[in-house]
Amino acid sequence: MRYSIKAIAFFLIVVLLFGGLVWSRYQQLYSQHLSARETTFHSSYNSIISSFQLVAKTLANEVIYQDDTLKLVHAIVTSEGEQRNYMRGLLYRKLYSTYTRANQYSVRQLHFHFPDGRSMLRFHKLNKADDDLSIYRPSVRIANEQQREVNGYESGRIVHGFRNVYPLYYQGTPIGSVEISNSFQQLRKILMETSSDSNYLFVMLKADLWHKLAAGQQVFYRGSTLHDDYVSENPHTCRHENFGEIAEVTDDMHSMLASLRDHQDLKDGLASEGDFALVMNWEKQIYSVLFHSVKNIEGKHAAYILDIKPEPVIQALQNDALVQFFIAVVFALILVVFRLKLLLVREEQKKTSAFLQTITSYMGEGLYATDQHGKVTFVNPEASSLLDYTQNEVVGRDAHNLFHVDDEQHQDEGCVILNSIMNNKTYKQEQVFFRDKGQQVFPVELTCTPFNNQGEIAGTITLFRDISGRRKRELELATTQRKLTEANLSLSQLASLDGLTGLSNRRTFDQMLITMWKGAYRNKSNLAILMIDIDYFKAYNDTYGHQQGDDCLRHVTKIIQESCLRPSDFTARYGGEEFVVLMPETSLYDASSVARRIVNNLRNEKIPHSGSSLGEMVTLSIGVCSQCPEDLGDEQSLITCADSHLYHAKKAGRNQVCSCDLVG
Ligand code: GH3
Ligand code: MG
Ligand code: MG
Repeated sequence: MRYSIKAIAFFLIVVLLFGGLVWSRYQQLYSQHLSARETTFHSSYNSIISSFQLVAKTLANEVIYQDDTLKLVHAIVTSEGEQRNYMRGLLYRKLYSTYTRANQYSVRQLHFHFPDGRSMLRFHKLNKADDDLSIYRPSVRIANEQQREVNGYESGRIVHGFRNVYPLYYQGTPIGSVEISNSFQQLRKILMETSSDSNYLFVMLKADLWHKLAAGQQVFYRGSTLHDDYVSENPHTCRHENFGEIAEVTDDMHSMLASLRDHQDLKDGLASEGDFALVMNWEKQIYSVLFHSVKNIEGKHAAYILDIKPEPVIQALQNDALVQFFIAVVFALILVVFRLKLLLVREEQKKTSAFLQTITSYMGEGLYATDQHGKVTFVNPEASSLLDYTQNEVVGRDAHNLFHVDDEQHQDEGCVILNSIMNNKTYKQEQVFFRDKGQQVFPVELTCTPFNNQGEIAGTITLFRDISGRRKRELELATTQRKLTEANLSLSQLASLDGLTGLSNRRTFDQMLITMWKGAYRNKSNLAILMIDIDYFKAYNDTYGHQQGDDCLRHVTKIIQESCLRPSDFTARYGGEEFVVLMPETSLYDASSVARRIVNNLRNEKIPHSGSSLGEMVTLSIGVCSQCPEDLGDEQSLITCADSHLYHAKKAGRNQVCSCDLVG
């Protein structure tokens, strides 16, 4: 919806713009054309009026300003009554043929006046004379009063016309004036010869004409279809002898002008009483109507000459403008379609960009893009935060120089970004190092991927993650594992050792017996055993207490360990106050020696035992045995043997060693 409004607005703007250009161009050509037409009309009009004046002047000079003519005029002025009429007749006859000839061309009227402004002789109306013209005919008054030639349009008692009035003299005395004038119809005839497709009308301001007309003259005029203030000659009533030939104005022309009647431009133009032009459509054809203001002798607007002409040029201009406007509309439509497409693409890009922006902003991983030279073009907030640089501080800088660290491990590999660009492939590194703004180095895991634009590598996108935390956790895990191993070790040691004496316990002994038994079996060597029991130990506890009994056990342990000199000798607490010693590759004899050494060493320690039936000291009884295994799984026989010998030692009185080689 938003785009539709935008598109429509854009379309209207373009159409208005192009339409405006087309319109202004049309207006310019239109004005130029009308202006040229007005100029042509004016020059034709002025040259015709000039030629009229020239003809009149020539006629005045060649015919009227002749002595005999002037003498006749003088005679009319100075005579009276019938004599005057007679003289008038002479003048009429004298100039009749000239008037007739001139009348065939351009001259409409030849009219002599008395010096006081009364009519002397009208060649176009012989029987009307002696009427006072000075009220209605300023040209006559001026010529007589000021004794100068007067030229210009002027309405009159009977006939209006373009008048040339000359003062007359006879022997230096003013004898009146003569008017040689032309009618509009004559002007029209010549104008039409210069522009045959034009039609010309003459409309007169009623206010200038109406009050001057002699009684009964108004019938020769009719109201103009253009405006009530104007009249034109009525060809149906005008008498030829007065008005000459009046061009018939066709009904078509009347209707056409009538259609203009309510046109505001017409009203304004007429009100201005100056020149103006109108262009109108009439029956599917364009016409221009030039209104040329005609001033009277006193310089006041008195009439209009209308120049009506069909206008194929304006028609062509309008057609051209329409075609151009149509092209403009089509062009605007094409522009709108393209613009709409562009807007939609941009909107899509904006959405994608916003989407990507959201992803990159909240993805929780650092992301930066570079151009093909390794210069940073974009960093997301996470990267900015990890590196402690603002976006502006990073963008445009060389990523490698700014925050990559050449550690020893990756020194030979070079910069990952440059590699990615040069080899056009993705690089992944488990652990490299970056340096933040504060020069703090931290480990990152990164993936660097090149991207293309129109087949060319345009840069890279690198995703990285600070793995300091992970490393810390890895280190903590390793420490925990080490501690666990240590704990496991001590646990297993605890499980294998006797808590009181620190010697291996019975379980360990059982395993060691099997191991050593197998070793002796393989080596075909003797494995000796000492089964040691403290004499009357119950009595010891009873005498000294259990605590001291424990101390005694530890003391005895120490003596046993110090008495067994070979590293391979293995001592364990067998249970209660009983101990065993396993001695690989030891004969019964040697084992018995060790047993005696233990007994002696204890004796030498002289640990008091007042509860013993044997004296005041702690003593031991030891059963000794040594076997070379013949059966791999028969290790219990060694125990049985030693146990038996211990029993014998006890039986024999305690504080002694009992041994016998069972095999032997
Ligand atoms: P004999 O000379 O026949 O061996 O007599 P004995 O008293 O030593 O033997 P008996 O089997 O009757 O008694 C063993 C005593 O050893 C009983 C027990 O109180 C004591 N004993 C066993 N283990 C420990 C120990 O860990 N600490 C202490 N203090 N005494 C223990
Ligand atoms: Mg015992
Ligand atoms: Mg005992």
